[in-house]
Amino acid sequence: MAQTKILLDESEIPTHWYNIVADMPNAPAPVLGPDGKPITPDALAAIFPMSLIEQEVSAERWIPIPDKVREIYRLWRPSPMFRAHRLEQMLGTPARIYYKYEGVSPAGSHKPNSAIAQAYYNKEAGIKRLVTETGAGQWGSSLALAGQMFGLQVRIYMVKVSYEQKPFRRSMMQTWGAEVFASPTNMTNAGRSILEKDPTNPGSLGIAISEAVEEAASRADTNYALGSVLNHVILHQTVIGLEAKKQFEKVGDYPDMIFAPCGGGSNFGGAAFPFFADRAAGKNVRLVAVEPSSCPTLTRGHYAYDFGDSVGMTPLLKMYTLGHDFMPPSIHAGGLRYHGDNAIVSQLYNEGLIEAVAVPQVATFEAGVQFARAEGIIPAPESCHAIRACIDEALRCKESGEAKTLFFNLSGHGHFDMASYDKYFAGELEDYAYPEEAIRQALDHLPKVG
Ligand SMILES: *Cc1c(COP(=O)(O)O)cnc(C)c1O
Repeated sequence: MAQTKILLDESEIPTHWYNIVADMPNAPAPVLGPDGKPITPDALAAIFPMSLIEQEVSAERWIPIPDKVREIYRLWRPSPMFRAHRLEQMLGTPARIYYKYEGVSPAGSHKPNSAIAQAYYNKEAGIKRLVTETGAGQWGSSLALAGQMFGLQVRIYMVKVSYEQKPFRRSMMQTWGAEVFASPTNMTNAGRSILEKDPTNPGSLGIAISEAVEEAASRADTNYALGSVLNHVILHQTVIGLEAKKQFEKVGDYPDMIFAPCGGGSNFGGAAFPFFADRAAGKNVRLVAVEPSSCPTLTRGHYAYDFGDSVGMTPLLKMYTLGHDFMPPSIHAGGLRYHGDNAIVSQLYNEGLIEAVAVPQVATFEAGVQFARAEGIIPAPESCHAIRACIDEALRCKESGEAKTLFFNLSGHGHFDMASYDKYFAGELEDYAYPEEAIRQALDHLPKVG
């Protein structure tokens, strides 16, 4: 039987991140200010260190990974890749299925790949505190960990519904020394304005971002850190795909299709973009972003300039959006409840260079349980989206007899999500209908620029 666990040694941790901008057929659309004109990098200097702003707009293909970041990466990188023999057998598919497992990081997901890098650059810039938002708690716990490693204080605005559903993620953040608040709070203007209209508002990533950005902009010793959506976050995540390429080389295989769950696009871009680079060399790999059908940003959103947050404090990004004030249903894959998507992911999708598919909640847990029973690892609800789409393709291969090579990113484990699995087993999980009316209303509020 072919190899099951495909490992690299520490010396094979990438030395550079890969920047897809160097290989895109068209330059990325500019980021706009409130006046509709492209912003200059120093407009972001109140909340980000210049090193990260430079990465945000860089067109260099390779960006060196600082030694101090690689040293911390060694705690869990290179992450393992697996050939899913037992899942293939269970499905009776001729397809070969591989997955890269990012749940081996201390926080249990891919997010520390960027958190460690962001904490490093902020520390180098003399910053003392970082503030951020978190949905399911994956990003907050990753930044808490990173802050602890570099001696930075971390404050986290956690989406209220997740704060209540996932109390142990809050304990993790506190264990790593961070302060955590349920957002919307009454500590910021953004939070108070939401609570005035709706005192029981369950929160959203967009609202929590508004709160964190407001605080970072008002204090010189404090910067903001974002766990997804921005280009530099995807850049840091490319260690996933770069390692995966080496792992495929080791077993003499190459993916026909790559699947990753897509919230803001960071693990999707991180796993998939390094393979995009091979297209110039004639490889025809299909890159598929998988999103929830209750928050169908790429598959049902508009391609337009919109705010990154709910209140309208951030610059305008050209992206697929459901409208910055769209309130997604409270699904259990909290990390996928975001109204927009990374601008590069959006542009590549608009140009037909990548694909997207939306899957309903119950079917994702079904896939996650099937995967856990075959492969042992219990996946995060977000990761279950990629597993669903990959299993669907493997079943199509069974019908057609095609022996495709399929690869997905297992972005995290689900050990803190067992309450969601409980709901699934009790038959209490819902498939939300496509929230057409809510999306239509939110799209009416898109800023009129661009
Ligand atoms: C945050 C998260 C996601 C979604 O975020 P992206 O930026 O789109 O990658 C997916 N999976 C897990 C486990 C997460 O924590």
